[in-house]
Amino acid sequence: MKVNRSQQAAQRRLASALGEIGFALPGSLTVRAYRCGKQNCRCRGEPPQLHGPYAFWTRKIDGKTVTRMLTDEEVADYEPLFDNARKLRELMNKLHELSLGLVEPANAGSRPKPRTRPTDAPARRRRTKAAGPQE
Ligand SMILES: [Zn+2]
Repeated sequence: MKVNRSQQAAQRRLASALGEIGFALPGSLTVRAYRCGKQNCRCRGEPPQLHGPYAFWTRKIDGKTVTRMLTDEEVADYEPLFDNARKLRELMNKLHELSLGLVEPANAGSRPKPRTRPTDAPARRRRTKAAGPQE
């Protein structure tokens, strides 16, 4: 396996950036409005007035998707940790690409971009924060 100077430098840059990462939370933070289960609620009126928007934290726990509503205070508190998690994923993807270039140099550069992961959030979500390159 040959490592050239620029690949070595790129690896050092990534390792250094990874070393700077702070706390990072798994899952994604989404903000969305929703309909409740009540038949005569305003959220089912014409025009519908949905509840929220509220912030939800969605993640996998033991293979199951778990969603928890977050307070405004929690959102302010946790948001940097979701940002860190996104940075971590970006750096890790770059390191993977760089390393693949070492073992499969013929494919370097021609490899298709990794598919963005579908979110577990409903289609009605209004905006996604710190959920990675999904938009
Ligand atoms: Zn309702």
